[in-house]
Amino acid sequence: MISIKNLHKSYVTGNNSLHVLKGISLEVEEGEMVSIMGASGSGKSTLLNVLGILDNYDSGEYHLNGMLIKDINETKAAQLRNRTIGFIFQSFNLISFKNAMENVALPLYYQGVNRRKRNQIAMEYLDRVGLKDWWTHLPSELSGGQKQRIAIARSLISKPKVILADEPTGALDSVTSMEVMDLLQEINNEGITILIVTHEHDIALRTQRSIKLKDGIIENITYHQSPYKAVASF
Ligand code: ADP
Ligand code: MG
Repeated sequence: MISIKNLHKSYVTGNNSLHVLKGISLEVEEGEMVSIMGASGSGKSTLLNVLGILDNYDSGEYHLNGMLIKDINETKAAQLRNRTIGFIFQSFNLISFKNAMENVALPLYYQGVNRRKRNQIAMEYLDRVGLKDWWTHLPSELSGGQKQRIAIARSLISKPKVILADEPTGALDSVTSMEVMDLLQEINNEGITILIVTHEHDIALRTQRSIKLKDGIIENITYHQSPYKAVASF
């Protein structure tokens, strides 16, 4: 599903260049649930942004679902994102003046689906994440866990093959975090590939393996046989 080879990326600001990803190679199979760990500044979000076609890379190769993603224009990138990728963020990124249903429906608006139809589909996804009765509520009227469920429903509505989650539980208490992980687990069980950036060990333990980044390279990979039990590492 995801294949990157010797990927490098630098940020250039003025005369300064910061080499952030320094030769990352990684294969993620369809249906895997993988975590990306590492200290703040190690390049986790940068990697996720490249994988999500939100940002370019300098050298190496990135294939998504068999397609080489390199120097593609923004229109094409947006198309690929809409068709293939769902995003979940630590800060939920919901639109504050739209209610739960409208937030979930938003990706379908961009696909040109009419209001009646997209709201109907959004209600199905709200039901799926257990929030059907909350559809009229604005984000400010919802708890953190509820907001993240809304964001997850929004990420699912365009039927993505891959979900990229950047610290999805970073703003949640530990009980709510586990509930969000339960939901992501269910989604993964249906075959959607999931990559989760996290610096929380108990979140990482719920994924099949953890990729640990350090200063822009993969330091090690830890495999987890089942939730809460690490079995091997190198
Ligand atoms: P992480 O998510 O692991 O905390 P990031 O990928 O966000 O790390 O950042 C890696 C490094 O790149 C940091 O030093 C950060 O300051 C820098 N960085 C991130 N985004 C940008 C940007 N848009 N422009 C310049 N530097 C950036
Ligand atoms: Mg980050």
